[in-house]
Amino acid sequence: MKSTLMNVANKPEPIMVSGSGHYLTDASGQRYLDFVQGWAANSLGHCPPELTQAILEQSQTLIHAGPGYHTGQSHNVAERLSALSGYDQVTFANSGAEANECAIKLARKWGEPTGRYKIITFEGCFHGRTLATMSASGKASFDALYNPKVPGFMRAPWQDIDTVAELIDNQTCAIMLELVQGEAGVHPATHEFISQLAVLAREQGVLLIVDEVQTGIGRTGQLFCFEHYGIKPSIVTLGKGLGGGMPVSAILCDTAIACFEPGDQGGTFNGNALVMSAVTAVLDQVSLPEFLEQVQTSSAYLFDQLSQFGDVRGKGLLLALDMPKGGANAVVDRALTQGLLLNAPNDDCLRFMPALNVTKKEVDQMIELLAQLLEPSI
Ligand SMILES: *Cc1c(COP(=O)(O)O)cnc(C)c1O
Repeated sequence: MKSTLMNVANKPEPIMVSGSGHYLTDASGQRYLDFVQGWAANSLGHCPPELTQAILEQSQTLIHAGPGYHTGQSHNVAERLSALSGYDQVTFANSGAEANECAIKLARKWGEPTGRYKIITFEGCFHGRTLATMSASGKASFDALYNPKVPGFMRAPWQDIDTVAELIDNQTCAIMLELVQGEAGVHPATHEFISQLAVLAREQGVLLIVDEVQTGIGRTGQLFCFEHYGIKPSIVTLGKGLGGGMPVSAILCDTAIACFEPGDQGGTFNGNALVMSAVTAVLDQVSLPEFLEQVQTSSAYLFDQLSQFGDVRGKGLLLALDMPKGGANAVVDRALTQGLLLNAPNDDCLRFMPALNVTKKEVDQMIELLAQLLEPSI
């Protein structure tokens, strides 16, 4: 389609006009069963009443006081996230990339007195599209872009603990990673690797930054993915599902690391009252033990159902079906014409990231469509 919108992403033709629960509807009235959900952002599905009501009410009271004033909403959400995560300091941003940019700045500021500024990152990890987060990302297609990159990022092969140990020197301030690589095709780190990394970071006195933009807020069946691994990272970033579709992200750490001084970090819209009302509505649901149990139950069912088509990997409701012979993008295109929204992080796998409150009914429906779509290729 010719458009005045800059072409920054390939998108299919249909123009989406409304969403409700697990469905998105386009301008022609076609309904789509949505297993992409705003790229894993719509934790509770499209326009859930708890969220729309919270936003509506907040919009009639206060939308934005600005970064120069306190609001009860941002204090309350910070306290809430702190109580849920065990970190005693929280700050907000508007996107995952900004949260990671903030974490990178925090680590550098923390390391500054001892001359530490280098950050070890990993092949395949994705941290966003600002210049620093693209420099930190281990996405091969980024390598040729926007050079020279931000210096100071040292990249190790994924899960290669020996290379990490070799790369650490007295100028290293942090190690940064995803616990489940999302954009690279849903690759969970092993428990062994994460334990070794946590020990290494502690021994060497470097920070561990865990990017939970995709894995946080219940996506993996625990409120935070680090809980699966029994570690406590130094800095955790959240985004995507945090606002249930509203643009908001967060950075968590403990007081000992929270070394920002006024003016070092911030943004006009960070933590505004409207987005905070959305976070509150999301946390009210997602933090309930029975909600997380349901995510685990749905995950086990989806995992099991997908296994009939091939190898499945991932955690919670962030799963991938391996398609070793390729063709995943073609399946996504055909699925769209059949009223199903799926995602292919690359041509070798399909990624499933339904709303966290997905039920057996939608999973069954998706599996039925998927079986028809995969039939010719198996
Ligand atoms: C999506 C994503 C980001 C970037 O978030 P934006 O909101 O798109 O800036 C960063 N890290 C991970 C792991 C992500 O999945």
